[in-house]
Amino acid sequence: MKIQENTPLALYTKLQIGGPARYFVEAGSINELKEAISWAKEKNLGYMVIAGGSNLLVSDEGYNGLIIRINFSGISQKDGVITVKAGTPLQEFVDYTVEHGLDGASTMSGIPGSLGGAIYGSAGAYGDNIRDHLKSVLSLDGDNAKTLTRDEFETGYRDSIFKRNKKLIILEAEFGEFAKSDPDELKKEAEKILATRNGKYPQSVKCPGSFFKNVVLEDLSTRQKDEVNSALLDFGKDIAVLEKFGKIPAGALIEILGGKGDRIGQIQITLNHANTFENLGGGQALDFFQLAKKWKNKVKEKFGIELEPEVQLVGFKESL
Ligand SMILES: Cc1cc2nc3c(=O)[nH]c(=O)nc-3n(C[C@H](O)[C@H](O)[C@H](O)COP(=O)(O)OP(=O)(O)OC[C@H]3O[C@@H](n4cnc5c(N)ncnc54)[C@H](O)[C@@H]3O)c2cc1C
Repeated sequence: MKIQENTPLALYTKLQIGGPARYFVEAGSINELKEAISWAKEKNLGYMVIAGGSNLLVSDEGYNGLIIRINFSGISQKDGVITVKAGTPLQEFVDYTVEHGLDGASTMSGIPGSLGGAIYGSAGAYGDNIRDHLKSVLSLDGDNAKTLTRDEFETGYRDSIFKRNKKLIILEAEFGEFAKSDPDELKKEAEKILATRNGKYPQSVKCPGSFFKNVVLEDLSTRQKDEVNSALLDFGKDIAVLEKFGKIPAGALIEILGGKGDRIGQIQITLNHANTFENLGGGQALDFFQLAKKWKNKVKEKFGIELEPEVQLVGFKESL
């Protein structure tokens, strides 16, 4: 285990933004992870795990503790139960299910990042969600490994027990009870999704995915719903389509208020999707934060809706 000092976190985030981690280590095994945590505890330092860095906004000041990058991976199957290690790229898991004709993960094709990060953020897209076939999660709770079963981590939209208890670290997870399907059909579906994604997030875009969580319709008062619906209709948006999954896209709210293309420094809201905040190159975390805050405030003023970031903020003194 090699602990580095003053490692620029911009190197480890999809956004390519972020000041230094005071200490940084790659954990290539569960033992190395435990060792790294003990090291941080002995030095009285805070610590945090990251993996693919695809859902992070790290402050320009960085992180004053130990960042542990989860770097152990692997997929195995026994008696219909698939075990996946936390650092496995989510795409490898999706490909595995597709190749084995297991229906239930193919529409997550193209979501960047690791399996552990996906469980942490309850990732999903176009109908499939990482929770759907999740049976149990082996996690590290302090010094002890413990298995959490389905009813213990059952959570809502883009939420998880791991978000609420940051000391729980996902080590590996078990999946099962997939319906059987034709691998070729699943492959076609996955490719269709990938093509749609490439339109929404071209490979060259430096962004952390959707910045804000979408708005759950159930959480709105009737008045708020009416106001949002009428503004969306005025803007020519098809409410039936937007409401299909019981949510209003945060991007639609920002778009109708004129957010597309708005820019602070080198951070811009993309022209094709108002919930994508892009680093045009050499961008600063502070500019990103200010732009996000500006549009969060505008949505709040107009609709009384408090947008919540989906992206995890690291090393900021103020919350969004
Ligand atoms: C272009 C683009 C498109 C995206 N599209 C989608 C989408 O369609 N749907 C969607 O849901 N998300 C999407 N995302 C967001 C992102 O891909 C997911 O949130 C992903 O699951 C994060 O995984 P990661 O390994 O990159 O996590 P990181 O960004 O490294 O970390 C994110 C959080 O997870 C925690 N974490 C990571 N690993 C562990 C672990 N083993 N144990 C405990 N906590 C852990 C970290 O502490 C951190 O708080 C997109 C991102 C990008 C860049």
